[in-house]
Amino acid sequence: MSVPVLYIVIPCYNEEEVLPVTSGLFLNKLKNMISDGKVAENSRVLFVNDGSKDTTYEIIENLSKQDEHFEGLSLSRNRGHQNALLAGLMTARTRCDITISIDCDGQDDINAMDKMVDEYAAGCDVVYGVRSKRATDTFFKRFTAEGFYKVMKHLGADVVFNHADYRLLSRRALDGLAQFKEVNLFLRGLVPLVGYRYSSVYYERNERMAGKSHYPLKKMLSFAFDGITSLSIKPIRLITSLGFLISILSFIGVIVTLITKLVGFTVTGWTSLICVICLMGGVQLICLGVIGEYIGKIYNETKHRPRFIISDTTFGEDGARDD
Ligand code: UDP
Ligand code: MG
Repeated sequence: MSVPVLYIVIPCYNEEEVLPVTSGLFLNKLKNMISDGKVAENSRVLFVNDGSKDTTYEIIENLSKQDEHFEGLSLSRNRGHQNALLAGLMTARTRCDITISIDCDGQDDINAMDKMVDEYAAGCDVVYGVRSKRATDTFFKRFTAEGFYKVMKHLGADVVFNHADYRLLSRRALDGLAQFKEVNLFLRGLVPLVGYRYSSVYYERNERMAGKSHYPLKKMLSFAFDGITSLSIKPIRLITSLGFLISILSFIGVIVTLITKLVGFTVTGWTSLICVICLMGGVQLICLGVIGEYIGKIYNETKHRPRFIISDTTFGEDGARDD
C-alpha cells in the first residue's frame, strides 16, 4: 500500500489564545510522521473556523502563509462543533486517504496519531481515540461525562465508551459518513453505524492548554439529550411501558375503590384525588415533552437545510456547500 495522504481536521471556535500554542505542535507531529514515511508529503493540517468572533481565522490565514502544510476554511457563521467537524471532514474527503479529527485545545494526546496510522495500515477503516483515564478532569466533569456514556448505552445508542471526536477515518469510511444526511448531527453515534473494521487507541487526556471550555454543564446536558434522541427511540418505548404500568395500577385502584364503596367505607378521598391528578399531570407533561422532542427533530430533518456553508478557504475554493 502506498503512503497515505493524511488530513488532520481541527474545528476552532474563539480559540485565539490556544491556536498559537497548539498549531506548532500539530505541524511538528505532521512533519515527523512525514519524515518517518508514515504519511505522504502533501498531508495537511486543516483548521475549520466555526464562525469565531475573535481573530481565530486571521491566525489561521497567517499560519497558512507561513507553511504550506497549514490550510484553513471558515464557516459562514457559528454552527457548533459537530457541524464544523463535518465541514472539515467533507472538504478533506476528496483530497486525502485518511483524516484524523482532533480538538484544537491540546487536550487529546497528539502522539496517539502514530498508532492510529499504524492501525489504518493494518487494515482498519475507523480508529477511535479512547481516553484511558481522566486524571486531569475535575471529579464533576468525569462523573457527568462517564455517566453520559452509560446512559447512552442503556437507551440504545451505540457509542464507544470514553471516546469523543478524536478518531481516524479512512476515505471509504468518510464516503460512508457522507451518505448520512441528518441535520441533527451526532458524529459519535453515526461513525459506529458506518461500519467497517475498527480498532481503538488509548491515550491520556491532558488539560486545556489555554482558553476555556465551550461545554459548560448546560450545553453538555443538551448535547447528551440530543445524542440520545437522535440515535434511539427507546425513550418513546419507555413511555409506552410507563403508560401500561400506570394503567394497570389505576385499574387496580379503581377496583379497590369500588370494593370500599360497596362495603360501605366511603372516605372523603380528597388527598388521594389530588395526588393522582398531580402525578398524572406531571407524567403526561414529561411524556408530551419527550414526544415533542422527536417531532421537533422530524421538523428539522424535513427542512433539509444545509448543515454548513463555507464562506472562505485558504486554498481558493470559495463558497462550497453541503448538499
Ligand atoms: N468548538 C467549535 N464550535 C463550537 C464550540 C466548540 O468548533 O461552537 C470546538 C473548539 O474550538 C474545540 C472543540 O470544539 O476545538 C471542543 O471544544 P471544547 O474544548 O470547548 O470542549 P471540551 O473539550 O471542554 O468538551
Ligand atoms: Mg477541550
